[in-house]
Amino acid sequence: MNNPINRPARGARPSGQFVRGKSGGNTQTKKYQPRPKKTNYHQTASKTPVFRHLKNTPTKNKGAKTQIAPLVNLSKNIRIIPLGGVEEVGKNMMVLEYLNDILIFDAGVQFTTEESPGIDYILPNTTYLEERQDKIRGLIITHGHLDHIGGIPYIIDKIGNPPLYGSNLTTLMIKKKMEEFPTQGKQMNYKIVEAGEKIKLGNLTLKFFPVTHSIPGALGISIETPLGNVVITGDLKLEHSNETPTAKEEKTWGELGQDNNLLLIADSTNVEKPGYSMPEQVVYDNIEQIIKYTKGRLIVGTFASQFERMIKIFEIAEKYGKKIITEGRSINTNLEIAKLSGLFTPKKDSVIPSSEIGNYPADRIIILATGSQGEEFAALTRLATKKHKYIFLNERDTVVLSSSIVPGNELAVRRLEDNLYRYDLKVIHYRVSDVHSTGHGNAQELAWINQKVGARFFMPAYGHHSMLKVHAEIAKSLGIPPANIVVPDNGSIIEIQDAGQKIVILKEKAPSGLMMVDGLSVGNMQEVVIRDRQCLAQDGIFVIIVTIDLKTKRLKKSPDIISRGFVYLRESQELLKKARYIAKTIVEKATQNGKPVDFDQIKVEVAGGVSRLLLQTTNKRPIVIPVILGF
Ligand SMILES: [Zn+2]
Repeated sequence: MNNPINRPARGARPSGQFVRGKSGGNTQTKKYQPRPKKTNYHQTASKTPVFRHLKNTPTKNKGAKTQIAPLVNLSKNIRIIPLGGVEEVGKNMMVLEYLNDILIFDAGVQFTTEESPGIDYILPNTTYLEERQDKIRGLIITHGHLDHIGGIPYIIDKIGNPPLYGSNLTTLMIKKKMEEFPTQGKQMNYKIVEAGEKIKLGNLTLKFFPVTHSIPGALGISIETPLGNVVITGDLKLEHSNETPTAKEEKTWGELGQDNNLLLIADSTNVEKPGYSMPEQVVYDNIEQIIKYTKGRLIVGTFASQFERMIKIFEIAEKYGKKIITEGRSINTNLEIAKLSGLFTPKKDSVIPSSEIGNYPADRIIILATGSQGEEFAALTRLATKKHKYIFLNERDTVVLSSSIVPGNELAVRRLEDNLYRYDLKVIHYRVSDVHSTGHGNAQELAWINQKVGARFFMPAYGHHSMLKVHAEIAKSLGIPPANIVVPDNGSIIEIQDAGQKIVILKEKAPSGLMMVDGLSVGNMQEVVIRDRQCLAQDGIFVIIVTIDLKTKRLKKSPDIISRGFVYLRESQELLKKARYIAKTIVEKATQNGKPVDFDQIKVEVAGGVSRLLLQTTNKRPIVIPVILGF
């Protein structure tokens, strides 16, 4: 995607006003172009304009990005629109539109990176759906991971509160999530569906089938249309032993293969890994060995969403007479959900509070903790940095990191490991021992699924563009003609045309601009805010306050300069002197021969002149804010 937040347009601003720059394009080499503002800035100048500027920046700026309005779908074509999740791992949302019905599959969030400082989450862009609310028959959720459910609280009201379909566990997780948002989704309409069920939404029939993933209750969906079935896998892998899928998988996919399958939409997350993924049973066996033989306390860091693994750890712990301490809100929440859904019931006395840790010998203690990604406030980080009230690590402890590193978290995990190793304790992680397996199938598994389904058309999904392309290559190698494979972008409108004979990507696109959650507000097109934050982070801010005596038309005093994050002012006196001189000269020139004071003009020229000076002398481009006052 031509992601504008990757390419900040940097440079000076003529004022503290919200100014929209062009998205995309390499603006490093672009010449400074002042954008004058209509109002008299001197009347609204504040002592701290930058903070007002950031706070008051509108979060929704419609029309900031040109998108071609999608056509009205009046044809008998099936439309598939991925609104998220095909250019990243996260914010999944797939739309199927046929005649008068729209079905939505998943509503995830994507966690943000250093490319979007201060932003909490990125959401799929739902504009296409907002404009067609009356056609929406349901929001169907494949499973309870945040990249499939996390967007629900933010979007459910915007798309007209359609009924929500998901398995019992998925529904419990969504309900738990909604508790964090007391004002949203007041009219939630939950409908529980399980594998094997068939339901009718509008004129479409949906068949739910079980898929193996790292969370129970994960469902795949086959949507029956008169042209054939569209199969959406959601996230999945295969249960197998020695690379032979189990009888359960054979049954599920064998039955599915009997249908007239038109299109397969499949998970691509692990497609770049060859062969088969490691079965979860190997992980269980290894963890059992570790629990059995570890002397001293055992601390296990894992993803809270790994329900089955957590349950397994409880079972093994109980088998060997150990006590469990759970640390971290998400682990406790999810254990609560697991109990509610009937997935498991721990023995009454197997869980103890951390305050009682001293009452048991060290080798009877297992601590289950969140934070295997090195998250700042998570339990494992608190333990590693001596911030826990009762638990203090020592060299007799063993820490198992039973999770992989989520891309982007490498540094945080490294820091966590460094902190742990400072105690000279033993660390076992997935790189040296099989203590974690993925929830996403490798290339060979995906190929097996593809062949079993035997659909005419194929669309890889759930992953970065490169992963999708690799997945497309695999499909080709299985004999699917290239013309029958589409690799979409977020917002692509895919149509199956000619009574199911042809698949195309239309040149029109559904709006796909960034939709973000920033604190309490949700909005799209916030590239400017992001760009400012990047600018501030990289080169800081430079404010120059020029006070003009309206009678004499001269500077009342030497301009004041405020700067943050740019250079250390006390050691840059020469630079400040030059900046003041530039401001002074501009004012004098602008008002010579008795010309009236033109604040806008002076502001633009001061911004330009000072920006050029700063760039020439420091090779930096801070945000320059001129404040022109007249008395
Ligand atoms: Zn998942």
